[in-house]
Amino acid sequence: MTQQTTESQPWCIFCRIVHGQASAEILYQDDMVTAFRDIHPQAPTHVQIVPNQHIPAVAAVTKTDAKLLSRMIAVANQLAAQEGIAQSGYRLVINNGPQAGQSVNHLHLHLLGGRRMGWPPG
Ligand code: 5GP
Ligand code: ZN
Repeated sequence: MTQQTTESQPWCIFCRIVHGQASAEILYQDDMVTAFRDIHPQAPTHVQIVPNQHIPAVAAVTKTDAKLLSRMIAVANQLAAQEGIAQSGYRLVINNGPQAGQSVNHLHLHLLGGRRMGWPPG
């Protein structure tokens, strides 16, 4: 993977984590996705599953990304089992845009679990 510095492909914080240029507790990595613990966990388990490739938001996903999205969910399920929350339950969240609270413009799937959660989300 090569460094991306153009405006359309910014070298963001999650790109830097994927490429080992910013520190994070990496739990899983393969040719398509990387998973690491959230720096400000909102639950006992709070992991980010991200594409290695810079995709700015879920709104930018197309049908050609089907394999990537299924890989992200499969990795989340695998990590939920590894974290011991597969039976108790967990939540997978993708925030898109400012009103939904997206703060990092690199697609990421939150894996949250280990406590009871409310609904609807705030
Ligand atoms: P969003 O608000 O965009 O849905 O989620 C972004 C998440 O990324 C937040 O939960 C935030 O704590 C996490 N985050 C932001 N910067 C870093 C970082 O440098 N390292 C790690 N591990 N997590 C980060
Ligand atoms: Zn990025």
